Amino acid sequence: MEIEKLHFLTPISAKKIAEEFSTPCYVYSEKALMEQARKVLAFPNAFGLTPRYAMKASSNANILKLFNKLGVHFDASSSYEVRRAIKAGIEPSHISLSSQQMPSDIADLVSLGIKFNACSLHQLEEFGKNIPNGELGVRINPGLGSGGTNRTNVGGPASSFGIWHEYIPQIFETAKKYGLKIIRIHTHIGSGSDPLVWQKVAKMSLDTVRKFPDVKILNMGGGFKVGRMSYEKSTDLQVVGAPVAELVKEFFKETGRKLHFEIEPGTFLLANCACLLAIIQDICDTGENGYSFLKLDSGMTEILRPSLYGAQHPIITIPQNPTGKTKEYIVSGHCCESGDILTPANADPEALAPRILEEAKIGDLCVIEGAGAYCSSMPAKNYNSYPEAPEVMLKEDGSVKLIRRRQTLEQIIQNEVQ
Ligand SMILES: *Cc1c(COP(=O)(O)O)cnc(C)c1O
Repeated sequence: MEIEKLHFLTPISAKKIAEEFSTPCYVYSEKALMEQARKVLAFPNAFGLTPRYAMKASSNANILKLFNKLGVHFDASSSYEVRRAIKAGIEPSHISLSSQQMPSDIADLVSLGIKFNACSLHQLEEFGKNIPNGELGVRINPGLGSGGTNRTNVGGPASSFGIWHEYIPQIFETAKKYGLKIIRIHTHIGSGSDPLVWQKVAKMSLDTVRKFPDVKILNMGGGFKVGRMSYEKSTDLQVVGAPVAELVKEFFKETGRKLHFEIEPGTFLLANCACLLAIIQDICDTGENGYSFLKLDSGMTEILRPSLYGAQHPIITIPQNPTGKTKEYIVSGHCCESGDILTPANADPEALAPRILEEAKIGDLCVIEGAGAYCSSMPAKNYNSYPEAPEVMLKEDGSVKLIRRRQTLEQIIQNEVQ
């Protein structure tokens, strides 16, 4: 396995940012975010496209505003995300909500103009009770799943996401009871990068649309795989999208219905657009037959994906005094938790997989790449009472802007009542 390289920083710019903002610190690349957004906006489509950023991937207002300016709409996963997007200045009609938890304020949210997808029969019933004669979408679990690991698979019988495809008659029953109009079919199964899987899911989704005469919009969710490691491949949206657009055209020829198309990428827009800067604060080993450990001043408090899924992230050490040598290391986080490991085996968070890195010393900088999606938004926040790390944006003009301050101890305990 080759040594990984920095994606958008240089050793010098990484050191400069670490000195200015201290570590751990997330660094986003405005240029990379814009490049990904442009690819998403160019997704092949037959009769119109609305790309939505799945904002749970990273929810900072600066990122939302940047995508908003470029014409990207938003997918929210909770009513709190909806409110957060609105606070960031996003037009409510540009936000669609697909939530595991039915919001208690659904009537308010819909009156603001947000779009709702019922993700269970219970949600459909609740929507009907609150907004009789309303318009909404339904999320269907087509019975097929695809994901990097079982924990990122969001379709098929082992997934609770969406209404199981065999229960479509119940959807019609509830819709009739409350006079609901179903105008959107949503299938997000985490389809990966295989064009054949996307075609298969598109065909299944179109078969579902055929049963719903009022449906005008097909939303195929996100799940476009991005290679973080140099040996992994990224989805080519043109390759995945072109045959799907053809299927939508065929559907029109056959039915006379022009479907508007939606996608909701989170990972694709964010994954490689940020890195995490950390300092090697300790080094130890467990003897001749053991391992060498680099201990960072970061870990699951900033990046949980390795511990949770056995996710692979590029790790680059930046020695102050390079020896020119490489060495096998286990990279571990700063939490008192044996699972706080940044170098697990692929898709196996319980196994250790030593990485070959440039030989490092205590005090050297370490960069974890691919930290844009599901890192700052999905940490083991405040575990061991470590404060939430800051986020900075490397602007297109080369300047660096602080977009979230480091949390203080006072903020960690501010809601405690003594
Ligand atoms: C999480 C999520 C997405 C984004 O998934 P990625 O794998 O990050 O592209 C899209 N739609 C819905 C409904 C989601 O829950």
